[in-house]
Amino acid sequence: PAKTMDELVSLCKRRGFIFQGSEIYGGMQGAYDYGPLGIELKNNLKAAWWRSMVYERDDVEGLDAAIVQNKHVYKYSGHEDTFTDPMVDCHECKSRLRADHMKDIKVCDNCGSTNVTEPRDFNLMFKTNVGPMVNEDSYTYLRPETAQGIFTNFKNVVDSTSRTLPFGIAQIGKSFRNEITPRNFIFRVREFEQMELEFFCKPGEDEKWHEFWVGARKQWWLDQGLAEENIQFEYVTGDDLSHYSKSTVDILYKFPHGFEELEGVANRTDYDLGSHTKAQDEFEITAKVKKNEHSTAKLAIRDLEANKWEIPFCIEPSAGLDRGLLAVMTEAYTEEELPNGTTRTVLKFKPHLAPIKVAIMPLKKNKPEIVALAKELKNKLQKLGLGRILYENTGNVGKGYRRHDEVGTPICVTVDFDSIEQEGAPVTVRDRDTMEQIVVKAADLPAYVINYFIN
Ligand code: ATP
Repeated sequence: PAKTMDELVSLCKRRGFIFQGSEIYGGMQGAYDYGPLGIELKNNLKAAWWRSMVYERDDVEGLDAAIVQNKHVYKYSGHEDTFTDPMVDCHECKSRLRADHMKDIKVCDNCGSTNVTEPRDFNLMFKTNVGPMVNEDSYTYLRPETAQGIFTNFKNVVDSTSRTLPFGIAQIGKSFRNEITPRNFIFRVREFEQMELEFFCKPGEDEKWHEFWVGARKQWWLDQGLAEENIQFEYVTGDDLSHYSKSTVDILYKFPHGFEELEGVANRTDYDLGSHTKAQDEFEITAKVKKNEHSTAKLAIRDLEANKWEIPFCIEPSAGLDRGLLAVMTEAYTEEELPNGTTRTVLKFKPHLAPIKVAIMPLKKNKPEIVALAKELKNKLQKLGLGRILYENTGNVGKGYRRHDEVGTPICVTVDFDSIEQEGAPVTVRDRDTMEQIVVKAADLPAYVINYFIN
């Protein structure tokens, strides 16, 4: 794994994974742009999450809700009142700091001074104006989590899919938080993507499902290539527990800057549906909720055995896509000493995450028959639907191997003179991890590649 954030930042920029946002204007703190390879990696990680959450289960539905919603969503979700971080100002260096780790000893992160203000609450939501008129009522917020769109659509999903408990709703999308101190590359940013599942179950079955999801989510991260020894659980207690949560388990990963939260798995009880439902008095809501004067829907489900309407409990595994990508890159980063004394950098991604699946390189740039066969193979492999297959005609295979090691391409295929002269058109297939080269007939290449990526 990578030892420092700097080596990752530099590889990400050099090879086109991640760039500083607004770089040509001096950058913008807490905003990053995903380049040609970054977007592929991100899409692959999202697809893996969606596959495991929606396609491989039969009790989860997908959703894509709007980012900008009615401001009442954030009034009743509790975000308007409580989505804050404690902030202090440093009198010495004039910086503003997030103070939640300062506890009793208040020392400025930036200059070490103890001459800082008392902490005060800072709301992390970005406020925005909707429509051409600007007045007291025209505001709303960019969503600080995707979850609320799931709760507000609870009735729509139940009515359109006839779901009964237990079942879940999954969503991937952008969230925005005006973090006081964004830092550590894409670990803490102001605009990021979340992959969230809200899993609804009967009250009383919530603890069982909470335990299930903590285990399932850890296994998923292992399947993405993270090593067991780099993952830890943290049982969130006391003051650190969100007001809506009965219990939360954070899944931590050993990032280059230390063990930090990758995903949180919370037991949100009946807080959210209880907060957003109309006719709150008709239900026995266990959570402490604000009196709702605006909702037009009952967010409950019929318990067929007891023959009554009931507000389900909710378990939420909430993962950061950008943090996930950083974890996967950290883990994949490898520097290897080769027998000839040189070193190579390899990103040892799991094949399903690799941004480029196969690179096809003609050995000779200007030999039409070689070029034609290479292009034909590219088109054939692309049709398999595995992801990006790259035809690359630089005429320098050695350099190509090095570059593709550094971006984690599992397979390189070279087409040479033998390929056009010998029967069966043999091509050379080179493996990223072992660097072994084998000869495969052109006609057998699609089956070889499918077998590699599907198994
Ligand atoms: P932290 O304590 O690090 O601020 P959090 O506990 O506020 O995180 P949650 O509200 O539980 O985070 O959000 C769920 C997930 O969303 C986190 O586990 C993380 O992966 C991701 N996430 C939250 N805030 C950010 C951010 N500013 N930048 C990138 N990812 C984030």
